[in-house]
Amino acid sequence: MRKTLYWKFLLAYLLFGLFGFVILSTFVPQMVRDLLVKEKAASLYKEGVLLAQNYNGLSTSQNSMDSLQSQIDAIALYLGASIRVLQPGGKIILDTAQPIDPENPPEISDFDPGLWTGSFYTIGDFWSSLSSSHINALSPITSGYSIIGYISLHHPMEALEAKVNAMMQIFFMTFGAIFLLSLIILIFFTEVVYRPLRKIISATEQYASGNMRYEWSVDSGDEMGYLAAALSYMAGEIARAEDDQKRFVANISHDFRSPLTSIRGYLEAMQDGTIPTESYEKYFSILLNETQRLTKLTGSLLTLNNLNTKGMLLDKSCFDIHQSIRSTAATLEGLCSQKGITLHLRLLGRELYVFADMEKIQQVLYNLLDNAIKFSHRDASIWVETTQQKNTIFVSVKDQGIGIPKDDLKWIWDRFYKSDLSRGKDKKGTGLGLSIVREILRSHGEHINVISTPGVGSEFIFSLPAATAPPSN
Ligand code: ADP
Repeated sequence: MRKTLYWKFLLAYLLFGLFGFVILSTFVPQMVRDLLVKEKAASLYKEGVLLAQNYNGLSTSQNSMDSLQSQIDAIALYLGASIRVLQPGGKIILDTAQPIDPENPPEISDFDPGLWTGSFYTIGDFWSSLSSSHINALSPITSGYSIIGYISLHHPMEALEAKVNAMMQIFFMTFGAIFLLSLIILIFFTEVVYRPLRKIISATEQYASGNMRYEWSVDSGDEMGYLAAALSYMAGEIARAEDDQKRFVANISHDFRSPLTSIRGYLEAMQDGTIPTESYEKYFSILLNETQRLTKLTGSLLTLNNLNTKGMLLDKSCFDIHQSIRSTAATLEGLCSQKGITLHLRLLGRELYVFADMEKIQQVLYNLLDNAIKFSHRDASIWVETTQQKNTIFVSVKDQGIGIPKDDLKWIWDRFYKSDLSRGKDKKGTGLGLSIVREILRSHGEHINVISTPGVGSEFIFSLPAATAPPSN
């Protein structure tokens, strides 16, 4: 398969040369010959007619014969032909090819101009009067209504063939030059298309065999270079996705293993009596916490998986974002009061409509508020604020919590990322909450930003499209 394209082009090139040569050596000479014969015959006939008109007052006196002879000699020389003056019966009285003895003029036996009807010229030896094949034109010399003689003009076919050969030589040389020049196309094709294509093929073979880090490049700015760059970019992305996948699985295993290990440890300790029965209650709550963590982890994983597989499948509608903020805040009220946290809602008017997937946006609000509560100190305040700029609604969730170190800010959106600072505060965290938030907003085509100072607090702000009209119900 690899060689096919190159060989196909080479074959096309050779076929072009072969067919060109065959056509040039078969049809073209005949066509050139026919053309030259017709042209020559027409000019011979035209001259013959002119001569016949001029000399129809033909007298047989020696003087007039001599002047006629010298004139037809000049014309014969100019035409490259021989000219004869014939009597109706076939006697040659003048011939530019040979002197004629007036006493004993040669005669063309079988001379019969009647046979020429339909054509003004013939090719042949003119009733065996010529030694070789000629183009012959015959014009009658008339006086009154009778034919008093003929002017015949004869151009040797040999001379015509020589002209055909000379022309064919030029044609062959031109074709040879074209054939060689078209070799440039073949070389160009090899350099511009074939070589880069070979590189692309061997790269795709490497990719197919699993070597996604295969190093290669095509140095050209054309479509081939673009295709190669796109391919190697794609391979890079696949390699990165593979790495992510590995890291993801490693993280999941780790996050599942640690609660399971501790559950197992406590249960074994309970079983073998290391933990006395009176302490069971304390350890039951630890065990419950660990199972809750596992449940949360599985739930988050499922959500992320759905977001990834469903991609852009969003159930968008027009809904009141203030209503969603209020109901999410109500859900988290218990958690807030446990830590003495006050939740302030600074909402822009009573209702504010946005066009988005309500359930998913509620999940965003929940995750952000949950984090704000988790990472806030006791008796702190949290603010949820809405603002509008033209057709965009901004929702901000701001806390006075532990904040996020500058270096961690770029990582917090990654799956399973938990900053060192937060570990002590949140033992149940999965590190999946913010990646879910980002996925949801990304699939809406919206953005989220964070401003945070360690020890001062964090503010997460995300955008939503404002709905132009509130729903009718
Ligand atoms: P989780 O909260 O389950 O650990 P997230 O993806 O929601 O996972 O958050 C990732 C990390 O980002 C957290 O572990 C924490 O370090 C940091 N983070 C998120 N929200 C806040 C916040 N409001 N204040 C301080 N740190 C935060």
